[in-house]
Amino acid sequence: MSSVSPKKCQVVQVCVQDNKLVNDFDVYIDHEATFAGAQLFFQKSRWANPYDPLVGGQEAASVEEMEKACELYKTHLLETKRHVLHELRGRKLGCFCDPSRRGCHGQVLAKMVNELPFQDLRANVLFMPGQRQADYCIQPTYFKGRRSPLSNFYPSTVEYQEESFKTVAHAFAYAILQHLGLPDTAQWAKDRLDAYSAHKVMVTMTELADNKTEGLSSPQQIVLMKQLLDDKWNRYAIFQEAAELADDQHVVHAIGSRYWGAGVDLAEVDPKQDPFELPGRNLLGWIIKYITFERRHWKTLWNYHVTELQKAVSTPGGPWEGNAYAQGMLIVDKALQGAAEKKQKKKQNKKKKNKWQQHQEQQEAGWGEMI
Ligand SMILES: [Zn+2]
Repeated sequence: MSSVSPKKCQVVQVCVQDNKLVNDFDVYIDHEATFAGAQLFFQKSRWANPYDPLVGGQEAASVEEMEKACELYKTHLLETKRHVLHELRGRKLGCFCDPSRRGCHGQVLAKMVNELPFQDLRANVLFMPGQRQADYCIQPTYFKGRRSPLSNFYPSTVEYQEESFKTVAHAFAYAILQHLGLPDTAQWAKDRLDAYSAHKVMVTMTELADNKTEGLSSPQQIVLMKQLLDDKWNRYAIFQEAAELADDQHVVHAIGSRYWGAGVDLAEVDPKQDPFELPGRNLLGWIIKYITFERRHWKTLWNYHVTELQKAVSTPGGPWEGNAYAQGMLIVDKALQGAAEKKQKKKQNKKKKNKWQQHQEQQEAGWGEMI
């Protein structure tokens, strides 16, 4: 994967001669301006500095005044524009200020855009340990129940061990029950018309089982869930679309479960709630997020986040210390990494065995020749 080109955002001075614009730029960032009876008209930009000491006139104000205005502008950007700053990445900004003088708000703006922490815009919004102002956390996507394509109860045929299942929930229940050594119950769950019955019997049997000695471990369950959702992704455009739509937002599985869900039911979600503070691990939400990143070839970026998150979560006294949400994501990654390593070890062992076999055969052949 190559990262997005780091084209710099820059400011150019807007030049007007004979009531005509003589230079080009991508985004106008200054106040309203009119030339020759509105034949040339600049509408006030959303990026204009509301704290300019004198609207439209850099020369009229002192450098100190301009710099003060820039300071205020910086705060204004952080408070209200942070989530849209990425729109200016690599763009040429047009301002009437003379760039040779200090105190143009455009310089502040361009600097902030160029300092966005990650090469890719959407990622900025996703994880920035320690910086979680309300407007920075774009509204999360909450989902629950069979009507949401993101839900495991959503009707979507998936395959597991060369058998077809009506929903991911059916397949997951079947697999879990098989691993618990209950093939009949597994088959019963598979045959249910509704996903909820299949899910319910799986939950009941898991609760009855001694989890320490039977069934799949948590990491194995995560790997299994990822495998099923990968299959669903490949088959259902509607699932892809729902996941992509939520792409720069958190995806939160709003059910009471503190393992697969956020520990909060959809009916009780408080829209003002910081999604980072929800009590559950939301592992289903994170697996969906993980898959979205993989499909967009953002694996490298994702790994970068993982490193950052690991650091943040393990910083004592830091705002992310012990954060359930972040930990949930790391759990997903660890489970998948663990599974990948195991696979590789198995492959290596097989190779070793083959070599040993070859060696033995050669030896035997050698002995044969000698005799
Ligand atoms: Zn300016």
